[in-house]
Amino acid sequence: MAKANAGKMPAIQAQRLFLSGNEALAHGAWEAGLAVAAAYPGTPSTEILETLATYSEVDVQWSVNEKVAYEVAYGAAVGGVRSLFACKHVGLNVAMDPLMTSAYAGVEAGFVVVVCDDPGMHSSQNEQDTRWVGIYAKLPVLEPSSPSEARQMVAEALAISEKFDTPVIIHMTTRVSHTKEDVAVGPRVPVESKPLRIDAAKYVMTPANARRRHDFIEKRLEKLRAASEKSKFNKVELKDTSLGFITGGISYLYLKETYPDASFLKLGFLYPFCDEKISEFAGQVKKLVVVEELDPFIEDHVKQLGIRKAKFRHPSFRQGELGPAVLEDAVSGQAKDETPSLPSRPPRLCAGCPHWASFSVLKKLGVFVAGDIGCYTLASMPPTSSLHTCICMGAGVTLQEGLRRAHPGEKIVGVIGDSTFVHSGVTGLINAVYNKSKGIVLILDNSTTAMTGGQQHPATGLTIRNEPTKQLDLAALCRACGVDNVDVIDPCGNIAQLEQLVQERLKADTLSVIIAKHPCKLIKR
Ligand code: SF4
Repeated sequence: MAKANAGKMPAIQAQRLFLSGNEALAHGAWEAGLAVAAAYPGTPSTEILETLATYSEVDVQWSVNEKVAYEVAYGAAVGGVRSLFACKHVGLNVAMDPLMTSAYAGVEAGFVVVVCDDPGMHSSQNEQDTRWVGIYAKLPVLEPSSPSEARQMVAEALAISEKFDTPVIIHMTTRVSHTKEDVAVGPRVPVESKPLRIDAAKYVMTPANARRRHDFIEKRLEKLRAASEKSKFNKVELKDTSLGFITGGISYLYLKETYPDASFLKLGFLYPFCDEKISEFAGQVKKLVVVEELDPFIEDHVKQLGIRKAKFRHPSFRQGELGPAVLEDAVSGQAKDETPSLPSRPPRLCAGCPHWASFSVLKKLGVFVAGDIGCYTLASMPPTSSLHTCICMGAGVTLQEGLRRAHPGEKIVGVIGDSTFVHSGVTGLINAVYNKSKGIVLILDNSTTAMTGGQQHPATGLTIRNEPTKQLDLAALCRACGVDNVDVIDPCGNIAQLEQLVQERLKADTLSVIIAKHPCKLIKR
């Protein structure tokens, strides 16, 4: 059995650290006896695993993708140790398959799913609002507003997970993940692992077992609803009752700054909603305003409760980030954004980036380029303007196949990074071989996961702690998949040879992989 820390924070010693939300959450998880953590890098979540990797007591890994990471971390929780999975919002899409059924099967030890959304799309291809996953998967959602709260909530989430036999989602956003604060921290409280227990009725989701577990999770939701009503993270602050806000996450801090004398119901145990507290608070204030970033998640629920006097943000605020100037408008109901306009500084490939060479060739040859997620996505912008699609991880390979099936005679190339190829490109390549597809896949191998700050992956031969491990040979992998031609070339200093190679492969009626290998200029070797 877990030792006595379930549901309780360790005694905080007189130590304070200046931590970001991601660092504070990692520290809080370490304090609460976390034993295993897994993730694939993704802004704004990456620093959670990087911080956990500094604690020797935690078994930490960069997994090859989010589905794998989720399953590894969940497996540890089924095995009886506290574990954590972290990702950015689009990463959760990759992990949705195990998430949905792990919600049924539950856990042996605490399991936390930390998802960092990116309102405003600073580094993302869409603007999902992960809070809905709580309703969809019938899982509890906690939402911190600050680094200090992230530290406290992760311990609470592990305790809730164990008490209610459920994965628990912690919803963060860029501003909570990356804001720094002076955080009170405590020592680690060791938690004993539980013995490996066989319980096929709980962990083998055949239809008969799943039907029983579905019944369980509906009842679990009701118990979680009662816990939400009592949670200290659903906090009522009654001051001037002429104006009251129902809010959560970073919006709470923006509102406190703009309306310091107003009353608040701050939702931290966000889902299931604390209906009684919401209704009671609504009756205590004269003017009630619901403020949240992105989708009307709280708003829709307040409407369902029939609270007619509540005011909501104009629909035009359902995208991008909030801020004090925007909040004024949210209260007045005017759809006006007075955020000061700053000179725009579009991102671009670094000077000296090896991708310049590859994209100069693709531009010169006038090919249609199916792109992927990585630094090289920036090649869609001037001066190269030579990347023409970017949907999700792995799609550089598969969209290339689809485009060629639509236009077999056109010059089409798929591009994908080394880390992204391992994440989800290789399955598309196997599909292309199996289905007799032709064409070219250009793997832009910069020997790192550059876009998120230079993390290791299987083809770098180093672990998250920079320890040597078996190195994946990308060329051998592509040959093993059955690709007709596999070439490795350094694009820097060999632009003419790369151009000639691409031209030859475009003319050939074969499936080719060209690995353009040159390290990112920003990684240390
Ligand atoms: S970080 Fe590395 S791979 Fe990315 S643009 Fe800069 S040099 Fe190129």
